[in-house]
Amino acid sequence: MLKLGFNFLIAVLLVLVVVFTWRTKRREKWERAGLCYSCGAMPQTTDRHGRICNDCVLTRKIQRWLGGFMALVIAAIAAWVYWPL
Ligand SMILES: [Zn+2]
Repeated sequence: MLKLGFNFLIAVLLVLVVVFTWRTKRREKWERAGLCYSCGAMPQTTDRHGRICNDCVLTRKIQRWLGGFMALVIAAIAAWVYWPL
């Protein structure tokens, strides 16, 4: 049982490394070609990482808002559940 769990963990780690390497390679190719580093489309603007398109800027903004909202909800639920009475 323990052996199976360990093998599974190694497999997951391996997949993560492969995906990460593939994403980095893809991103480098787009950066060299002067395209949006996030999706490879024509860039309209730049951020602190490099050239980026308006779609990705909007996606990032939405993701940040969603992340902040989720964190707030989780914090509220945690406070509600663990509030000392
Ligand atoms: Zn993009």
